[in-house]
Amino acid sequence: MNLTVRGIGRLLTMTAGVHHDAALVVRHGRVAWAGPGRDLPAGAPEQVLEAGGACVVPGFVDAHTHLVYAGVRRDEFVARLAGESYDGGGIRTTVEATRAASTELLVDLAAQRASSALAHGTTTMEVKTGYGLSPEHELRLLDAVRELAGRTPIHVEPTYLGAHVVPAGADRRTYVAEVIATIPEAARRGARWCDVFCDRGVFTVDEARQILLAARESGLGLRLHAEEIAPTGAAGLAAELGCASADHLEHVTPADARAMASAGVVGVLLPTVTLSLRSQAWGHAAVLREAGVELALATDCNPGTSWCESMPFAIQLACLAMGLSVEEAFRAATRGAASSLRLADRGHLGPGAAGDLVVLDAEHEADIVAHLGAAAVGRTVVGGVPVG
Ligand SMILES: [Zn+2]
Repeated sequence: MNLTVRGIGRLLTMTAGVHHDAALVVRHGRVAWAGPGRDLPAGAPEQVLEAGGACVVPGFVDAHTHLVYAGVRRDEFVARLAGESYDGGGIRTTVEATRAASTELLVDLAAQRASSALAHGTTTMEVKTGYGLSPEHELRLLDAVRELAGRTPIHVEPTYLGAHVVPAGADRRTYVAEVIATIPEAARRGARWCDVFCDRGVFTVDEARQILLAARESGLGLRLHAEEIAPTGAAGLAAELGCASADHLEHVTPADARAMASAGVVGVLLPTVTLSLRSQAWGHAAVLREAGVELALATDCNPGTSWCESMPFAIQLACLAMGLSVEEAFRAATRGAASSLRLADRGHLGPGAAGDLVVLDAEHEADIVAHLGAAAVGRTVVGGVPVG
């Protein structure tokens, strides 16, 4: 739609630097113009959003979520507070609850989470399956992701994650074969990406390679849960296959990080997981930065290890715990995350980009990092339409 945003104190375009006392014009859902307010072109749209001197940034791109699920993992969380560690096993708890839920309920629950994300400034979101773990249930979850995409203003990127864990009681070779056999139908049902949880106790590097090569045959883009629980060489696999992203990366080695950088694999940081797991693994961001890996940020929204729909909270942790600068964190939450999804027209406010933006509840983006526990977002705009 058409919209003029006026009275922007600071406008972070992510392509053309920062404009002060700025304005921005969206036409037909796309950025048509951005610059100093005094240069606002004549004939700008009459529909006006007054930013009141606030800072405006591109809509946040959440590059990694498991939004479609039912049930809660309260017991596991409480046990973790009492000192138990995470081994990926809690995923099966969510699988049981998700299989038992109707598709309608799953879409309703996911839509509620999406509206929370929207209120926190997310305008593009990757959404994985992975709590079905049988061809029938995984494909049903893809249907749910597609329905979700029709119900939220957020742009949704669907990912098939049949290889989340080996289901309880299943033979792993048979299951890997089943995951691979389901890929073509997953692509027909709208999956754009394929992901594998490649880690100790989950899927091996060899299994992940087989699955991702099959996914590439079906035209899917590749992502990888890598090096979260233990070092396995998964990040090296992501580089070998030229995955669009490798995510988590707590245990990435400097050599694998360099391989990722040369292969153009974006490193997706998930600091809310580190917080929720109480693992205190914050150092990998510096390893990735040192190697020259492009960084992205995401919430990993899921019921077990990161119950969070807030990109501003991920930004805060990325800065305060992982040591990113404010500029690096905002870039990772917008441009970097869009890059991990190969979306050239998102995560920035250059001409032609999606008219997705966030009016922060602050005059400077650094205040969002400094002001703990506060609402960070004043308004969220998607395609030139104020939605939250
Ligand atoms: Zn995940």
